This record gives sequence, structure tokens and C-alpha cells, in this order.
Amino acid sequence: MATVPPPGQAPYGQPPQQPYPQQPGQNPYGQNPYGQNPYGQGAAGQNPYGQNPYGQAPQGQAPQGQNPFGQGQQPYPQQHAQPGAGGGCTICGGYPAVPATVRGHQGFLVMMKFLKRRGTFCRSCGIAIHREMTTKTLWQGWWGIASFVITPVTVLLNLGPRSAFNKLPPPTGGVRPPLDPGKPIFGRAGAFGVLVPLIAVAVIATAIITDNSASTASVGDCVSKSGSNYDPTVKVVDCTSTSAAYKVAEKHSGKHDGDACGDNYAEYDETGRGDDFALCLTPLH
Ligand SMILES: [Zn+2]
Repeated sequence: MATVPPPGQAPYGQPPQQPYPQQPGQNPYGQNPYGQNPYGQGAAGQNPYGQNPYGQAPQGQAPQGQNPFGQGQQPYPQQHAQPGAGGGCTICGGYPAVPATVRGHQGFLVMMKFLKRRGTFCRSCGIAIHREMTTKTLWQGWWGIASFVITPVTVLLNLGPRSAFNKLPPPTGGVRPPLDPGKPIFGRAGAFGVLVPLIAVAVIATAIITDNSASTASVGDCVSKSGSNYDPTVKVVDCTSTSAAYKVAEKHSGKHDGDACGDNYAEYDETGRGDDFALCLTPLH
């Protein structure tokens, strides 16, 4: 620092013109030759860096509840003046408290995010964190392929710390009120996210079960026909249905040029979808 003096000033003499005097035991900025603390914080004799440069969460004030970096990361884990340093709750300072890691998961189409909240938590704060992170995971966790596995694992892993919190008595002796545990997880709207995978499975299963396209037809099935003779739409229907028009007499796989069935049947061909087939049909009426 100060290796290049401003032009026109003596490089190393004359303390009043020396921009950054290095006198041991004194705050260099406390004797600022310009008469002002250049950083706008800290009066003379105070280290301006002793204050949180982010302007949030000074020591001893809700460092976790107002964490500017989001969940799972604590910007100043080594501070000693904050709650939790003496074995009490990281958040409220209350006792008793247990060390725990509560997890969350967010799935996205191509990426995912693992959330982690590590600390020493009392019953109230621990349950509050568990409920919040688990509920978020239940609706944010599903939106990726791998997440379908990771989300349930995350929820299961959280049962361990949750049961530890449950065993604690209510906290006492905190330096501030503990977090409000709030509603149970299944009293929160986000918990309905647990239905996402069930709905997805149901939709897929329904699509498979209700697929009545011609490709699903087997010999003996009945089909309906709508549309023109040149571009018909053929669906598998129950033979007792009034829309049943033909019975499938033969089914041929592979490429055909409209000649798979001979003259005895009406023929329905499907080509160009990678799974060519022909249905040989007998009219029902
Ligand atoms: Zn607490």
C-alpha cells in the first residue's frame, strides 16, 4: 500500500502528506489526513472493517434469518459473538440445542440445487427450519428426472434431525425469541407438491390405458372408423359399441403398400411412424 505516492509529494517523509501512515497500534484511517474517514463508517479509533461491509446482519443480529446469501450458506460462520457459539441455538441462542443439518432440494429441467442448513438448533428453530425446507422441497424438488429420486431421499434424510428436534424440550435462555415453528407441513400449501409425482404417474398411466389408437388393435378387437375413406381415423372400441364398424381379422407388421390383406378384407394401413402395420378388417354391418 502507498508504494506509489501522488505526484508532487515527497515519497516517504512528512507524515501529514503521507496518505497511509503505517504506525503500529493505531488505526491508519483514524488519522486520515483528509479529515474524513474515506469509507464512511467508523469514527476515528475504530477499524472501519470491524463492521459488516454488507450492511446486513451485524454480529449478534439474526445472522441466519436474514441471510443475504440464501439458504444453506452462512456468510460468517466463524463469528463468536453470535448465538450458538456456546452450544446454544444458532438462531436464538436458547438451550437445549442439537447440531443438525437440514436439507432441501430444487429440481430443474437440466440442473438441480442442493440446499443445506447446518447449525445448532433448539426445538422451535429446528422444527421451523425442517418444516420450511421440507415443504419447499415437496413442491420445488420434482422438476427434473434425477430429482424424482433425490427429493424423497432429501425428505427422508430430514426425518433424522426432525426427530432430534422433537425430543428436545422448549428452548429457554435465548438472546432473542426462537423461530415460530408455524403450521405442520401438511397444513401448508406447498405440501401439495407431494402430489406432483403421483399426478405425473396417473397421467402417464391414463394415457397408456386409454390409448385406443389403431396401433393398439389386436386380432378380434373391434374398431370404429371416422373421417374419409382416404384418410380414415380408426380407433379400437368395444364390440358392443354402436360405433364399432369392423372386426380385426388379421394384423400384419412391417411395410405394406395397401396389399397386405388380399381381396377378402378392408385394409387399414399405417405407415411412416416407424412402426408400420396393416389391419385386415371384416365389416360388422
Ligand atoms: Zn432457537
